[in-house]
Amino acid sequence: MFRKTLLRLTLQNAIVFLLVVSLLGAWLYWFMENQQFKKIDQTLILRAEEMKAEMLGEPFFIFPDPDPLVEVIVWDVKQKEIRKIGQTPINIYNISQLYPEQVDGKVHNLRIGSLQFRSIAVSVLTSQDEELIVQVIRNTNAELQLLGELRKNIVIGCCVAILIAAGVGYYLARRSLVPIQQAWQAQQQFVADASHELRTPLAVIQTRTELLLRNPKQTIEEKSPDISTIYRETRRLSKLVSSLLTLARSDSNQLELNRDVFDFDQLVHEVADHFKELAELNQHQFHVDISGPLTLNGDRERLHQLLVILLDNAFKYTPPSGTITLTCRKKGNEIYLQVADTGMGISKEDLPRIFDRFFRGDQARTRSDGGTGLGLSIAKWIVEKHGGKISVQSKPGKGSTFTVRF
Ligand code: ADP
Repeated sequence: MFRKTLLRLTLQNAIVFLLVVSLLGAWLYWFMENQQFKKIDQTLILRAEEMKAEMLGEPFFIFPDPDPLVEVIVWDVKQKEIRKIGQTPINIYNISQLYPEQVDGKVHNLRIGSLQFRSIAVSVLTSQDEELIVQVIRNTNAELQLLGELRKNIVIGCCVAILIAAGVGYYLARRSLVPIQQAWQAQQQFVADASHELRTPLAVIQTRTELLLRNPKQTIEEKSPDISTIYRETRRLSKLVSSLLTLARSDSNQLELNRDVFDFDQLVHEVADHFKELAELNQHQFHVDISGPLTLNGDRERLHQLLVILLDNAFKYTPPSGTITLTCRKKGNEIYLQVADTGMGISKEDLPRIFDRFFRGDQARTRSDGGTGLGLSIAKWIVEKHGGKISVQSKPGKGSTFTVRF
């Protein structure tokens, strides 16, 4: 699937690279050509004017450094050359072929065999009422050869650029695809894990319901174990679906916080009070140490969810008579929240993975309370979305401590 995209991106990158190089080459050629001929044309125009002034006996600025390749030919109206000023011997070209086609004071190209010229011609009416044509020419073979070399090198450069462009394009395309590929794989894994997790409670609900339907005459009391299993699995399913939805929305950045300034210590008290009842029921020691006032700008509901996840885990993974301590206070500029327990702890190998989606420790997996392995992923998302940090310290058999700083 990514191969096609890789090829398309390579092609796109290569085309852009090639286009840039070609445009640069074309501009360089145009600039050189312009520079070369602009100077020659200016010389020709000035020389023609100088010559005309000289023939009319008018004063004119004389070139300080005349171009040795510039030649002047004076023609009469019968196309006869009557004067030639220049260093090229006359017999080098058939002089009559140089006669200008246009006498308009503009510079034109002139070609005789392999010889190339820039040429300008002006007409002069002498004091004896004789009409003459003054033509100024300059051989441009050397300049054209230089430009030809430049053109050849630019074409070679473009060919090399095609190869480089293909290589660079491929490399850039590969690099830009890496994060997309990783995100895609993570998404695939997420969907696969989610389907797997959903299948188990669904299968339990299905078989238990089939059992109920097979014996329609039995009473609810007789069938209460099956009914309570269906109820438990339905709750688990509902929790799982809502967790999946939270994570999927957080992935696509659809989930925003409902921020508000509120008393965080009050919220911690509220949540702690609920868990006090649970502690009594399970014979846990539950210590609460909250020092307020603690004001926080955040999403009250999400932070409530975070506290429930951390405390729920602490109670879940701590055997009866174990101790759970909830601490919340201000430390410098930070709000410091800690949930510590004396429970089963987390092994060194599991510790880096507990915030991963669907990760459940071996011991957690064997428990019947049906965790989903998504709680801590959601907790981490909530903390990070609030600009905070979550960390964990744990020793197997001794307990775990989760610390959050906002
Ligand atoms: P769940 O609790 O539903 O399995 P979580 O994402 O909340 O999923 O936790 C992931 C794993 O981290 C748990 O399966 C468990 O192995 C480990 N864990 C989390 N909290 C604790 C804790 N307080 N004590 C021991 N292990 C914990």
